Amino acid sequence: MQHRLTFFLNSAARKVSTAQIAPKLEQWADRHGIDAQLVSPALQDLPQTVAHAVAAGRLPVAVGGDGTVHQLAQHLPAKTTFATLPLGSGNDFATALGWAKSLDAALEQLRTAQPVELDCLHVSQDGTPHFTGLSVAGWGFASDVNREANASSVPGALQYPVGVFQALAKGGTRSVRLTFDDDTVVEDRFWTVLVCNTSMAGGGMRFAPDADPQDGMMEVLALGDVSTLGLVGLLGRVYLGKHLGHPQVKLWKCRSLTIEPLEEQPGPWSPLLAEGDSYQGAAKTRFDLQSAGISMLAPLEASFKR
Ligand SMILES: [Mg+2]
Repeated sequence: MQHRLTFFLNSAARKVSTAQIAPKLEQWADRHGIDAQLVSPALQDLPQTVAHAVAAGRLPVAVGGDGTVHQLAQHLPAKTTFATLPLGSGNDFATALGWAKSLDAALEQLRTAQPVELDCLHVSQDGTPHFTGLSVAGWGFASDVNREANASSVPGALQYPVGVFQALAKGGTRSVRLTFDDDTVVEDRFWTVLVCNTSMAGGGMRFAPDADPQDGMMEVLALGDVSTLGLVGLLGRVYLGKHLGHPQVKLWKCRSLTIEPLEEQPGPWSPLLAEGDSYQGAAKTRFDLQSAGISMLAPLEASFKR
């Protein structure tokens, strides 16, 4: 890793205290003779701060959780190499890429990390780009869990389990039409539909255990008509990645997906979720996989095509 770095610290991430982390990053950079800059822009200043760093030939590093790297990725020029250092309350994307969970170990990995090209998800509504997804985007129950987790005041590790139970209380399956690759149509009732580029979301839940962000395909997972209790049991199996044999778990591989809620009225569409961020739903939301759409530093020991 011979880059000049700009660390983006997310001041809003719950587990990241800029005051605590900044000296650590500065000491690490000094010790290894790395040219590192630290910034912590407010969300509205993020596009400009990213543009400045990239124009100056610096490699942006998102320091935080999945939400931090998601936000950064929304503002990067195409094919700009970037990185993530896992520090937030949810680090599923970084974990899937092979980053260590402790900051010291991840910084050690960063010194020798190399760029890899990974697929990404372009999400659009009515032909208008909505957001870029890096790991797992969701509709239905998963999105409700995320909203409840973000709104909850419990400590980080408990946010998702608490979110699950709060969302269950509102729960139930929803009728939806899924169109794969513009030809195969499935209409059914599902608790949730998850579009997976990497394997994990929701704080270590292995929804698509075999998802490969370099195979040019997205994996679409849907949890069908099980009881509330059945869903709780199923989610327990998801942590272990042992749910795929369940008769109400469906998995497809495709390059594009359109989601159309069938029982909703224009207006308060079920929202979408991506890396902890919530987005407006719509009558039709389209997911297109872009093969090798992003370039990211990955630890040397991670098994990616380079
Ligand atoms: Mg894939």
